Amino acid sequence: MTTNKNNLTTSWGAPVGDNQNSMTAGSRGPTLIQDVHLLEKLAHFNRERVPERVVHAKGAGAHGYFEVTNDVSKYTKAKFLSEVGKRTPLFVRFSTVAGENGSADSVRDPRGFAVKFYTEEGNYDLVGNNTPVFFIRDAIKFPDFIHTQKRHPVTHLKNPDAVWDFWSLSPESLHQVTILMSDRGIPATYRHMHGFGSHTFKWVNAEGEGVWIKYHFKTEQGIKNLTEEVGTKIAGENPDYHTQDLYEAIEKGDFPAWKLYVQIMPLEDADTYRFDPFDVTKVWSQKDYPLIEVGRMVLNRNPENYFAEVEQATFSPGTLVPGIEPSPDKMLQGRLFAYADAHRYRVGANHNSLPINRPKAEVHNYQRDGQMRFDSNGGGSVYYEPNSFGGPQETPENKTTAYPVSGSADSTAYDHNDHYTQAGDLYRLLSEEERTRLVSNIVGSMKQVTKDEIKLRQIQHFYKADPEYGTRVAEGLGLSVPQEV
Ligand code: NDP
Repeated sequence: MTTNKNNLTTSWGAPVGDNQNSMTAGSRGPTLIQDVHLLEKLAHFNRERVPERVVHAKGAGAHGYFEVTNDVSKYTKAKFLSEVGKRTPLFVRFSTVAGENGSADSVRDPRGFAVKFYTEEGNYDLVGNNTPVFFIRDAIKFPDFIHTQKRHPVTHLKNPDAVWDFWSLSPESLHQVTILMSDRGIPATYRHMHGFGSHTFKWVNAEGEGVWIKYHFKTEQGIKNLTEEVGTKIAGENPDYHTQDLYEAIEKGDFPAWKLYVQIMPLEDADTYRFDPFDVTKVWSQKDYPLIEVGRMVLNRNPENYFAEVEQATFSPGTLVPGIEPSPDKMLQGRLFAYADAHRYRVGANHNSLPINRPKAEVHNYQRDGQMRFDSNGGGSVYYEPNSFGGPQETPENKTTAYPVSGSADSTAYDHNDHYTQAGDLYRLLSEEERTRLVSNIVGSMKQVTKDEIKLRQIQHFYKADPEYGTRVAEGLGLSVPQEV
């Protein structure tokens, strides 16, 4: 059918006769309900927003590719990592965590670092942050933690009391709090930060042998950060500073790139390592498990439509391909459910069929129907399994590998509770100037807390990480380190 692209149509494709004047009874109105073009236009406008993400609402995205630069096939059978030189298209979304969709980019907050690899075996989502650790290590605490980062139910203001109360009562957060309050808490741009898978994952090779791994994306642009003062100034002058920077860099051909590395731990080390390797509040020392190069990610194409691509992109840590499996990390286990569920609610049950999420690999399954099923819905093909009609069947070689478990089904706390050594190691790794800024950032935030009890409890955590750290924060707040510590 030939249509003239310059002719305006309704969403059902009919030509529009008047798009400037609503249809009224006489020149003064009232407006007529028979103006279905007006009704559709207003009603569709009311529905232009999908619910914003509860976390990571404000973000920017870009397309690019991943190229393998080192042979890791002895560790994983994932086909997109199978040979040096192999390229896989991908889409990345960077984000802040706590702010709403229109909030400022240059705030102190972790940054989301989510990558969707469109591999030949289906999509693989690596949904991480710009920090190697997280504030909590059990998903059951996540809604409470996020409540503390959001707004007070009465004032609708951010609430430092809630933030520091929760952190001081959840000492596993200390390591991430130290990273957040350090210079890297406000990256200069999305291009000047590292990315981490944060959790431990399992890689499995063609022989079915596994290793535990952690992912590190290292920025080729170098680490650059904003001070508290500059970040605050930019937040007022240009709240979309990071979004604009990423778009403009790619637009002018200055393509940002990251090198991907993994740390690899033999399965048996998990029982004896001095930290629980599945505890996402801890890192694996790079002295124990050095970084091994895997490949290079380059972002070289901007989205053509922000809503269609960035807003409708749906990432989930459970979007895995053969050769990459979850670990028992309790935070990861919760995310395997929560992310996909968020997208079913936010974008719809068929979110994986949208162009930005649709795998390049063909999808053959028995899922049918649901809201906005906009493909052929399987047509007349067989719609149940097992069947005698030649429908798609499982491939046992792609089964997830087994691992032994033991103990009782129970609400179980972690055995390891040393939240201080690694936070202290980080403090001791900082230069004197970096320590001064870290303490100043913490004091600036904590002095807004109204209860001394909360401040004193948190000072004890800093002190246990490093006596100098705790003492300097206490001095900055005009308090003394409590005797009992
Ligand atoms: P290493 O000396 O081998 O590694 C130190 C790491 O610290 C490097 O990855 C470095 O990143 C990073 N780093 C430096 N400054 C900061 C900062 N302000 N915020 C966050 N990261 C920073 O030591 P270990 O592996 O034994 O780790 C020591 C401490 O380093 C840990 O307790 C942890 O706090 C921190 N760290 C460790 C990571 C790991 O995977 N082991 C990853 C990130 C931090 P870069 O090379 O870019 O400077």
